[in-house]
Amino acid sequence: MKTKAPLFFICGYPDCFELGLHPHHITYQPNVEEKFCVKHHKEIETLLFHHSDRDRITLSNDQRIRIYKDWISGAEKVTEHMRAVFNKFSDWKD
Ligand SMILES: [Zn+2]
Repeated sequence: MKTKAPLFFICGYPDCFELGLHPHHITYQPNVEEKFCVKHHKEIETLLFHHSDRDRITLSNDQRIRIYKDWISGAEKVTEHMRAVFNKFSDWKD
């Protein structure tokens, strides 16, 4: 029998067809998650880091949702500067 990865394993970013194995918390309370590939998970974490002045946990749900929606819609993109700051100061491990 042929098997195929079910759709919920595909990255949640539009037009990305990589495996979405990284759960990302859109909000923590309530617990709302979406799964992304590594690249896109790192992108949303980079944006949250940028907007939160380096403490992405303490953003409000409204802030987290707004940043998430702006990113998913393409209204906000990660810049090279944001990427460099995130790589230097965050605790992210690839
Ligand atoms: Zn992706």
